[in-house]
Amino acid sequence: MKCSCCGKKKKLLESFEELEKDINICVDCSKGLYKYQDAIKEKNEEDSKKLLDEIKGKKSEKSFIEWFSKFQDRIGVQNTQCDSK
Ligand SMILES: [Zn+2]
Repeated sequence: MKCSCCGKKKKLLESFEELEKDINICVDCSKGLYKYQDAIKEKNEEDSKKLLDEIKGKKSEKSFIEWFSKFQDRIGVQNTQCDSK
């Protein structure tokens, strides 16, 4: 198994979080997602942008990218993929 977000392979004792069937992410990526979610909820634009860049900078699988855009909808983010600022 490998992380759908960053591509890291699961180690023996490591626990991955299952976001959806066939979408599993490592602890680091999971933490990043929760931090991002918190930043959105706190309307902390600076942090949320930084965390978003981190998440998008990873070699994510297509399935994760699709999941992530649904996740953004769910936590109330407008999709910023076309953001050129
Ligand atoms: Zn990962």
